[in-house]
Amino acid sequence: MQIYLYIFLIIIFFMTRDVFYPYFKNYQRQKLITRYFQPEWRNFLKEKVLFYNRLNANEKQLFENKISNFLLDYNIKGIETDISDFDKVLVAASAVIPVFRFSNWYYRDLKTIFLFPDSFTINHPMLPEGTLLNGLVGYGGMVDKMYLSRKALYESFEKDFDGKHTGIHEFLHLIDMEDGAADGVPDILIPKSYIKPWKELIQKEIERVCNDDSILSNYACENAAEFFAESGVSFFENPDELQSKHPELYRVLELIFMTKTK
Ligand SMILES: [Zn+2]
Repeated sequence: MQIYLYIFLIIIFFMTRDVFYPYFKNYQRQKLITRYFQPEWRNFLKEKVLFYNRLNANEKQLFENKISNFLLDYNIKGIETDISDFDKVLVAASAVIPVFRFSNWYYRDLKTIFLFPDSFTINHPMLPEGTLLNGLVGYGGMVDKMYLSRKALYESFEKDFDGKHTGIHEFLHLIDMEDGAADGVPDILIPKSYIKPWKELIQKEIERVCNDDSILSNYACENAAEFFAESGVSFFENPDELQSKHPELYRVLELIFMTKTK
């Protein structure tokens, strides 16, 4: 009789395994995420990251979990320098801020972030030789990689309302490129009916930047991709001014990032 019971239990195990396994995996991952976050990172976030300080207690916990999740998923390496856990936390914070309100965001086209101690140069067919850079993502040889200047990253978190942020800027490029095109239109985040008005708004706002009639940096005048990155940085860094000077742009960015920043 007992043998039938064993057979019955084995059949039940194989029938339900696929149903319960994802829950088990998710439980294990959550345990790992909670253990991974170091208490001293909390003080560091309080000291450096205004976005974190604006969150309520539950959201702060969620932000910390997302930091751990990011650090478990991606490699961060120093080039010509050793890097600390704090450096890595600031890279992760730059990645988490723009996608904080999305429940399961994953930077599909990223594996490794390389941190240079300061501004850097690289050989790239699209760049004049010797161009000094603070951040870079892209296609071709740059696929899966992001380059960042650590000095620029720390300065970005020290100056809160200047509308400049090297880390968030580069992650916004990756968000834009998720649909395969760096064109300032993150198709996966905009309802289809908004795409045409968004493209028209981009052109109108780029003209304002190029005519010095905008709070966005001149870099946004370059093209639609740089405009998207710079307007996103302003949205997270300088929301009051963006809303008062560019209310239409602010409203669409609110829709794209599913959040109010003020
Ligand atoms: Zn850029």
